[in-house]
Amino acid sequence: MIIKAKKSLGQNFLKDKNVLKKIADKSLLNNSAELIEIGPGTGNLTDYLIKKNPKKVFLIEKDEELSKYLKNKFFDKIKVINKDILKFFDYEIFNKNTIVIGNLPYNISSQILVKFILDNNFKYKALIFMFQKEMADRILAEVNSKNYGRLSILSNWKFDIKKLFDIKPSSFEPKPKVESSLLFFSEKVDKINLKNPKSLELITRILFNQKRKKIRKSINNIFKKNNKIISDLNLNLDLRPQNLDLKTYCNIASKYDSEKIS
Ligand code: SAH
Repeated sequence: MIIKAKKSLGQNFLKDKNVLKKIADKSLLNNSAELIEIGPGTGNLTDYLIKKNPKKVFLIEKDEELSKYLKNKFFDKIKVINKDILKFFDYEIFNKNTIVIGNLPYNISSQILVKFILDNNFKYKALIFMFQKEMADRILAEVNSKNYGRLSILSNWKFDIKKLFDIKPSSFEPKPKVESSLLFFSEKVDKINLKNPKSLELITRILFNQKRKKIRKSINNIFKKNNKIISDLNLNLDLRPQNLDLKTYCNIASKYDSEKIS
């Protein structure tokens, strides 16, 4: 059976055997772990991951043609789920031994990551996701740097993040235009407590929409010019969104929640 890659579904299949093996070796999979793979494609990576003998394997693949192909290729132990990960809410297949792995479709990779950041119902031990290198750099960026933004703040609120390695376009078929990076995420044990993480998403979205402007105007908008609340936050309103650290963003989000501004 010949499978033609669909651009609309971000299909870039990993072909390089050394890279596939390296990912499996870094995956922490063993016979007490469970695997959920997002976007398994033709199962190239899956072949290497199952060599680590995970207890259970679930493959979540949106493409119907590929899902049929995968059902034929693998046996009973592997459950193929033909669904869109962005509309996936079957929490019961996730648990604290689950390792979630994906060579993600690049057009929706940040949406997938944000879903795992904001939805607390997914349980897992680690996420291992592939991104375009430029997006990985944004996820890993530190405050006051050029790449620092919403993704850095949201990801760093929830996770300890490590870059495992970069991968060249020639390792894929079809070849993407840019380099890729594989990142490892584990949930922070000392995460800043937020009543409603969606508020952090909202606040960072509003502020970074005016990325080069001083924060004064956005903060005034968010808090409806309520001077008491704004002065409580003790912010320097002449700073720009890239100058505020994670703790400051969490303070703003918590204030927004506690004041019930709508
Ligand atoms: N893991 C494979 C394929 C990666 S390409 C490999 O490394 O070779 C990305 C895969 O994600 C494709 O198989 C594509 O069909 C699938 N995909 C795209 N959008 C998806 C979505 N919303 N939910 C689940 N899978 C999706």
